[in-house]
Amino acid sequence: MIQGNGMETPQTRRTVLVVEDNDMNRELLCAILEDSFDVLEAENGLVGLEQLERNYEQVSIVLLDVYMPVCDGFEFLRRKQADERFDSVPVIVTTASNALEDEIECLRLGANDFVIKPYNVEIILNRVNNIIRLRESASIVNQLTWDNLTGLYSREFFFRRVNSITSTSDDETFDVVCSKIMNFSMLNDRYGKANCDDMVRELAARISDTLPDFMAGGRLGNEILGFLIKHQEDSTWTGRLSETTKGLMATNLHLNFGIMENIDRSLFASNACDRALLAMEEIRDTFGVSVAWYNDELREKQVREHVILETMEQALKEHQFTVYYQPKHDTRTEEVGGAEALVRWIHPDLGFVRPDHFIPVFERNGFITELDLYVFEEVCKQITSNREHGLPTIPISINVSRLDFDLPDLADRISELADRYHIPHSMLHVELTETAYSENPSRVIDALQELQNRGFLIELDDFGSGYSSLASLNDLALNVMKLDMSIIRQAARMNDYRIVAAAIQMAQFLDLKTVAEGVETAREAERLKELGCNLIQGYYYSKPLNREEFEQYLGRRRDTHDA
Ligand code: C2E
Ligand code: CA
Ligand code: CA
Repeated sequence: MIQGNGMETPQTRRTVLVVEDNDMNRELLCAILEDSFDVLEAENGLVGLEQLERNYEQVSIVLLDVYMPVCDGFEFLRRKQADERFDSVPVIVTTASNALEDEIECLRLGANDFVIKPYNVEIILNRVNNIIRLRESASIVNQLTWDNLTGLYSREFFFRRVNSITSTSDDETFDVVCSKIMNFSMLNDRYGKANCDDMVRELAARISDTLPDFMAGGRLGNEILGFLIKHQEDSTWTGRLSETTKGLMATNLHLNFGIMENIDRSLFASNACDRALLAMEEIRDTFGVSVAWYNDELREKQVREHVILETMEQALKEHQFTVYYQPKHDTRTEEVGGAEALVRWIHPDLGFVRPDHFIPVFERNGFITELDLYVFEEVCKQITSNREHGLPTIPISINVSRLDFDLPDLADRISELADRYHIPHSMLHVELTETAYSENPSRVIDALQELQNRGFLIELDDFGSGYSSLASLNDLALNVMKLDMSIIRQAARMNDYRIVAAAIQMAQFLDLKTVAEGVETAREAERLKELGCNLIQGYYYSKPLNREEFEQYLGRRRDTHDA
């Protein structure tokens, strides 16, 4: 049975916490309340807070005196307000009859009602009962303790339970384990709700049984479960998690686990679960049963992404994004035959941010489109400047994201920019990866065709990186195929260029030029040249260069050529 640990029985008698320093007043209040309630007593605010800390799950209401030594009623309210665990506990303040200002201040600090001294039995009992009833009915929906299906705690109660366990054990730490059925909606469509409910129930039971030192479990969402266990030094137990799916919709259940270790009292349960879930999302694409741990790297990533989102708009305005250029060399002439524009972010706080750190973030929130258009314009300026400085005119390619194709007027916007800078469209290439095509094929097919009709050249990026489909070669209006760095590196490592050769032949057959990416040695360049590859890009010739370096590079090439 899952509910075994720390299970509360439904309360019939409610508990009232009386915080009052005057012994006589306190005894009087207790005497009034004792017939109907369980009463906890505290002789000042500090003791009251300690009581609340230990018992907030049971306490239905606090009766609070305002003037007390050590920690008065105002301070008590202030500290209570600062702790989300105590949100659901209402407070009635006891004041003298002429204390309007105190009442206002207490209300501001979150008190719910007043009773005036000297005490009237009927008034006190009625107010206490009314407020408890109001509170309980208002929050009944999210205060349901148990999840009917799994017998685990409900979400809210799980969090409360975890907070209470972690905050009351001084020398122990705990781990939060979350599980999520990653393909739940697909399974629902396929097997129906009833079957999926059975599956969730069964999984909840099996996982609870598999976990070492199980403390509490909760259903955090339809397909998400959370568990608290004592901290485990050794992770071999996670190997047993794959047993939990045995025989359950066996072939295609995709269950992930995320673990946040060593949570302590400073971290709220909901945050700990968020982190465990975040770790799990990082491994979304692996199938079967997989386990991921939240770690410092993820924490850094989280912080970085937060900063990225906060500062991106400002960064674009302040030209913190700059464009680097990586030359592409013609294998026949050895001359620079083109360049790829690669964006860089010099962040005032984070320093140099790598594109693979910020581009995925921008692809999630759509900002990438603005950035790509910015890069496009910077490239136009660079081509203009090259021309003005008498540098060789070479085409420059710009990376476009799949999201850019959601712009209905992408071709218009790009054409307008090119024309504003008087740049022939054939000097501008567009690089796109095949994943763009796989997500919205018809939109991408049309948009590329439109770009090509207007004279821009289209390069298919990352060919051979694992997503290649021959369909895209057939359907898309292309001019150039870029062989992905991974197949070049693989060929170099194995000294086996058969795949590269086949790709080049296929490109030739389709009338596409070829560019090899990530070429690092003379030997690789030589082999690629023999195989008929047209252009070579990579550290062998040059790293991506900033504007000055790029202009020097072009100038130097011209000088050696002239000489
Ligand atoms: P990509 O388009 O495949 O770019 C090639 C990446 O390989 C670049 O990384 C480049 O610096 C690196 N590289 C070039 N030659 C070599 C080499 O010989 N060896 C090795 N190991 N690496 C090499 P970078 O600049 O970090 O860019 C990463 C990715 O970010 C790019 O991959 C591209 O997908 C994306 N990206 C960069 N700039 C933009 C942009 O303006 N817009 C969009 N949408 N994406 C961009
Ligand atoms: Ca590229
Ligand atoms: Ca590439």
